Amino acid sequence: MKVAVLGEGQLGMMLKQAGQRIGIDVHLLNVDKNRLPEVDIPITAEREHWPLTSFTEALQRHPGWLNSAAFSTLPDRRQQKALLDKLGLPTAPWRVVGADVTQKDLHQQLGPDVFLKRARGGYDGHGQQRLKEGFLADFPSWTDNAIAEQAIRFETEVSIIGARGGDNHTVYYRLTENRHDDGVLTISLSRPDRWDALQAKAEQMLQQVMQHLDYVGVMAMECFVVDGELLINEIAPRVHNSGHWTQAGASISQFELHLRAVCGLPLPQPEQFGFSMMINLLGLSYNSGWLRQGAAQLHWYGKIVQPGRKMGHLNFYHPTSPTQLAEWLIQLEAPSVFESSRIWALSQLCPTDVTN
Ligand code: ATP
Ligand code: MG
Repeated sequence: MKVAVLGEGQLGMMLKQAGQRIGIDVHLLNVDKNRLPEVDIPITAEREHWPLTSFTEALQRHPGWLNSAAFSTLPDRRQQKALLDKLGLPTAPWRVVGADVTQKDLHQQLGPDVFLKRARGGYDGHGQQRLKEGFLADFPSWTDNAIAEQAIRFETEVSIIGARGGDNHTVYYRLTENRHDDGVLTISLSRPDRWDALQAKAEQMLQQVMQHLDYVGVMAMECFVVDGELLINEIAPRVHNSGHWTQAGASISQFELHLRAVCGLPLPQPEQFGFSMMINLLGLSYNSGWLRQGAAQLHWYGKIVQPGRKMGHLNFYHPTSPTQLAEWLIQLEAPSVFESSRIWALSQLCPTDVTN
């Protein structure tokens, strides 16, 4: 069995690894590659933004190309937010921004603290600017192609990863709790029962989006938790960084689940036991010290080091003990910039003792 994936980044690499295990041959396609896959091969993507080249244009006309509705809607924040409004799904108050908009207009409409976000092409907090009333900001060059959003005072951030098969059957992992610093995910935690009260609602919300777009494969929905309720931050039509823990903490990883869905293979509910933690290795060079920790599962992407860049991640899993995860986190060799995320995770895993 074969699957073609547009994109050659780490998500593509991990799809390829997952495919190897279950006998699916995954071909990663460069945006400039000029040989189209054979007609009967399903084509998916590991990224939602790509340049329009003669190859990507032809790919999108290929009979195997999946999820055109999702890819023509979700990558543009204006269209994504409009879709959420249309479906009656809660999201942060927002508006489209054009060249004629002033900062004062935005504060008047959305409040004293506002995020300006590039409509297309932002990632890991790039393409965003925060505007605070009383501090006049220079608008970035992309402002005429943006949205503005109210800054939300959230209790925490969670995400749900789900998959839909061509027969409309859906499955979901339990809600994951995520910590971002400067707009970049640093740590994800998956704990049994922690978000049970919101699980059914999150599944129903994501299901509504997947069904509306007739989507096949894995989709991720990032949410803020506000007053105990979910407010959608954004939705990604692909495997997602906050689902990397499933490589260690679930019987079927999100990568395998995506491949199963796009190939029309069985899509049972993955088993998830115990506690999982994923740590992003941001802007770091390779450190064999990570391999000294027996519990750490290293995934290294082999990219050129750049400040803040996602270079790899570590997964940790324990069947019963969040305290054990906290101890592993304390032992981890990590730079001091990571400290606030580490403190956050320790306070989640061991609310009383470990942080003292
Ligand atoms: P990625 O694609 O890596 O998920 P991104 O660049 O698309 O990130 P967002 O998810 O929109 O960006 O924002 C990144 C982070 O910035 C959020 O997870 C959250 O921590 C913070 N953030 C974004 N929008 C808001 C908001 N309206 N209110 C409060 N915090 C926000
Ligand atoms: Mg995000």
